[in-house]
Amino acid sequence: MSMKNVLIIGGGQAGATVAQDLRKRGYEGDITLIGEEAQLPYRRPPLSKAYLAGEASIESLQVMKAPILEKNRIDLRTDSRVSSIRPAEHQVELADGQVLSYDKLVLCTGGRARPLPVAGADADNVFELRSIKDVDAIRAECTEGRHLVIIGGGFIGLEVAAVARKLGLNVTVLEGLPRVLARVTAPQISTFFEQVHREAGVQIRTDASVSGLVGSPRVSHVLLRDGEQIPADLVIVGIGLIANTELAANAGLAVDNGIVVNEFGQTSDPDIYAAGDCSNLPSAFYGRRVRLESVNNAMEQARCVAAALIGNPQPYDPVPWFWSDQYDLKLQMVGLSAGYDTCVLRGDPATRSFSLFYLRDGEIIAADAVSQPKDFMAAKKLVAARVRAEAATLADPSIPLTDLLPA
Ligand code: FAD
Repeated sequence: MSMKNVLIIGGGQAGATVAQDLRKRGYEGDITLIGEEAQLPYRRPPLSKAYLAGEASIESLQVMKAPILEKNRIDLRTDSRVSSIRPAEHQVELADGQVLSYDKLVLCTGGRARPLPVAGADADNVFELRSIKDVDAIRAECTEGRHLVIIGGGFIGLEVAAVARKLGLNVTVLEGLPRVLARVTAPQISTFFEQVHREAGVQIRTDASVSGLVGSPRVSHVLLRDGEQIPADLVIVGIGLIANTELAANAGLAVDNGIVVNEFGQTSDPDIYAAGDCSNLPSAFYGRRVRLESVNNAMEQARCVAAALIGNPQPYDPVPWFWSDQYDLKLQMVGLSAGYDTCVLRGDPATRSFSLFYLRDGEIIAADAVSQPKDFMAAKKLVAARVRAEAATLADPSIPLTDLLPA
């Protein structure tokens, strides 16, 4: 069957990229992009950074503006939610009852904020941070001198803490684990960022388990399991993401920590693909399946799906990378560090510019670079090439990292 009609569910980074890339690759048929948000497709990273700080406009976040959509003949339907997929009929049903047909369907449904499982989490001044709408509501509450309690010491929580200090709020970060960023970095990086935040005036509380939110309709205190109550004018919850897989699961597609796809982004139904945060992909590089939450992955996997759709499949096998901006610092990470046996520090954290390399059996498997873009660029190549290195060599800033690359 020739492909006349591609329907994409989810108007985020991945969905917009699939649509645009199909045109770049010469696809001439219909493209319909269905997004439940009111906005044109936009980038989320600035939400917890420049947009929250009031330093970026909505327009600067948009990945596709109206003229590009028009030029590319992409039929974007905003405020439109797909409620079910009928794979046998090659149809989807929208929440308003409309039924649309497809030749090929692409799921780019991303994820939603993990809800805080305690009473009071639905109070008026408790927020999650995933969308422009969320940040607009948060900003309206960010008055100088107010007490902000952030639940979750991950990237979003810490980025928000940095911006909120700049806006003059009193900030407390509550992290349930013994250190911030515990799931993604080594203790050295956690210690560094905890110190940076404390110096900026943020109260960081680790091993802090939240048992309730006190006050209605507005929360006035966050209750910890040990009985302590922390005053709060507003609360932001940043405790992770749940992949939006329900549409896929209800349609009978394979789902396992994300929508299961092959190396071309194809799901268990050959006419349905998936890309971005919602997908679980096979990594030949890591020898296991992974679900990645990053802009780079959303875009690259989306391009791979577009290529497969036009009949030019190219396997996708990423070495993931990610970044986080906090204060004047840029943290850039490459690779997945899980399973490392050795950490090597390069440079001095006291200078606020250093790198940390993760090794397993002598192989560099990941690196975190703090305001060290050169190390990061080199580390991307070292990790991808599976370079083995001596700890002493990596630790010596006088030896260029590029010297370690294979000729
Ligand atoms: P999303 O961008 O989540 O888009 C999915 C879209 O699908 C959403 O608009 C959703 O409303 C829509 N949708 C879902 N279900 C339906 C349905 N049934 N019908 C219609 N529409 C539907 N990544 C980085 O690499 N670096 C960063 O610094 C960084 N910072 C971030 C900061 C914040 C605050 C957030 C929230 C994320 C950040 N990320 C960052 C992660 C990055 O934004 C995501 O990995 C990326 O947006 C994933 O793109 P996606 O298209 O898969 O999903």
